[in-house]
Amino acid sequence: MLVSACLIGRYCRYDGRTNEDRVLERELEREHQRAVPFCPEEHGGLGTPRPPASIHGGDAHAVLDGRAQVRSDSGADLSPAFLAGARGALEVCREHGIRRAYLKERSPSCGVRNTHADGELVPGPGVTSALLARAGIDVRGIEGRRD
Ligand code: SF4
Repeated sequence: MLVSACLIGRYCRYDGRTNEDRVLERELEREHQRAVPFCPEEHGGLGTPRPPASIHGGDAHAVLDGRAQVRSDSGADLSPAFLAGARGALEVCREHGIRRAYLKERSPSCGVRNTHADGELVPGPGVTSALLARAGIDVRGIEGRRD
């Protein structure tokens, strides 16, 4: 399984915190699933902490197709870093033969059912989640921080 690194205890959130989800950790352990932790935004070269970001001018698929952008709250275009993170996640899946990913909801990278666009929470995937789904990976959204 590919797993958003912040869901299994890495302090890689934009604000330097974690979304550790003990329910998910126990489930993976019970099913003897090996979690491969991955943070697309760190992989794309954005440090931690980093400014919050949001999709602008379309959805995550439009970002993948170069028709929309991911921008920081100060307006900087972070699309290349988000795209590099998404491609990195897909590479890791291909390298390890991974067919399923547990990803953190609401992130502009990892969100599955919800993400941030134009500074608001909206239905739709983040950039990494959209690319993995396009590649046929089973992406599952996890809210995080359950005990
Ligand atoms: S939600 Fe995704 S991009 Fe954000 S910190 Fe977690 S793993 Fe990294």
